Amino acid sequence: MENMFDTICAIATPLSAGSIGIIRISGEKSFEIISKIFDRTAKPGMINHGWIIDNENGQKLDEVIVLPFKNPKSFTGEDVVEIQTHGSPVIIREILNLILKNGAKLAARGEFTKRAFLNHKIDLSQAEAVLDLINAKTSKSASLAANNLSGSLKKEIADMRETLTEILAKITASLDFPEDVKEVEYDEILSVLEKAENKIEKILENAHCHNVLREGIQIAIAGQPNVGKSSLFNTLLSYDRAIVTDIAGTTRDTISENIDIEGISATLTDTAGIREGNIDKVEQIGVQNSKSTIDNADIILCLYDGVKGVQNEDREVFELAKTGKKCLYIETKQDVTGKIHDTEGFNAGKTLENPIVISSKTMYGIENLKKAVFFEIIGSNIENTCFLTNQRHQEALNKALSHVKIAKSAAEIGELQDLISIDIKSALLALGEISGEVVTDEVLNRIFDSFCIGK
Ligand code: GDP
Repeated sequence: MENMFDTICAIATPLSAGSIGIIRISGEKSFEIISKIFDRTAKPGMINHGWIIDNENGQKLDEVIVLPFKNPKSFTGEDVVEIQTHGSPVIIREILNLILKNGAKLAARGEFTKRAFLNHKIDLSQAEAVLDLINAKTSKSASLAANNLSGSLKKEIADMRETLTEILAKITASLDFPEDVKEVEYDEILSVLEKAENKIEKILENAHCHNVLREGIQIAIAGQPNVGKSSLFNTLLSYDRAIVTDIAGTTRDTISENIDIEGISATLTDTAGIREGNIDKVEQIGVQNSKSTIDNADIILCLYDGVKGVQNEDREVFELAKTGKKCLYIETKQDVTGKIHDTEGFNAGKTLENPIVISSKTMYGIENLKKAVFFEIIGSNIENTCFLTNQRHQEALNKALSHVKIAKSAAEIGELQDLISIDIKSALLALGEISGEVVTDEVLNRIFDSFCIGK
């Protein structure tokens, strides 16, 4: 933070024509500034209706709603004023300039949220949740980010820190006052450390699932020409994005769109059919692009035509996809074959012998397919998770875990409690990084620099 006492302002809504635009001011001069440019007295805790007037030339700029929040009862913990203008980018900019002329500074990225953190309105995991919530691409990731914002990760970490702090305090007291305080039982230390270890391991078990929910996945649809790739692509998208014909080589380049698969944000790519031999230059480039899409995908949907059955050419394409990737085998055109799919969920599609049978014409098997993608990527852990961790949290948790484990091993062999306490302290420091109790300016800047201005 450059100077915590500067009053900052920014446009909080996207700068494009809309019904409402919001400008925020935060800092000790907020109320003074609004009193100079608003034609009424803006009362905190009230919805104030009036005009913004340019105090240099008396020109009326816009009819607005002004919402003043008196510190500490505001998002940043400072005096805050929110001005709701009509959603014209020209008007919004003019009002922002007026506020700047009257003594505010333009906010840096994430500066409002950073102030909320520095003023102890939220902890660091909640500040990060604000960003996750803004960037969430599915309702599942949005609801988990909202849980973080409401403090679920914060509470989990705080509970762990509390029990570790308690045992550390007991050990320290017995070391400092050996005559008055008796040594802590090793069993008690072990039990606390075991609980912390289990809890951290449980959170880390879900790390992969959290990363997927936050960052999304890449899905490639692969297969020979005419097996029904573009039809499936359109079906999963729920509209006709790719051209479907029975002419082999119609899709000559890769096409990508974002979809929501059971709460996971996925980039779905329809690859040009992979075929070698006598194909023109454009199709050759398409085939090359298809191969690199497959290389970058997290999961590949390997399609073959149910009417023709698995051909040698299909197997050749699937070989390309096999290199250590997650693959699901899909048999298409069920409306013609009439084949009944009898395996649901977990095991469906893992082998060519047990494919997921679908029809893009009738939607047969499409829900099965979505569930299978979900299981393949996430497994069945997601119901247990009620908050999200990010890479930074996971690194801190891993650090904490290794100290807890060292302390536990030491306690098991009755090591000096002085030594055990060193690792408990280190675990506490690592956990403190998540909530932001222990955090460097560099980490703070890295987090808040990824916010947009106005948040
Ligand atoms: P791609 O070349 O693999 O992308 O295949 P397309 O999606 O373009 O489909 C090739 C042909 O198969 C088209 O004539 C589609 O109408 C047809 N097709 C695709 N999916 C189905 C399906 O589920 N049922 C039926 N009956 N035909 C399908």
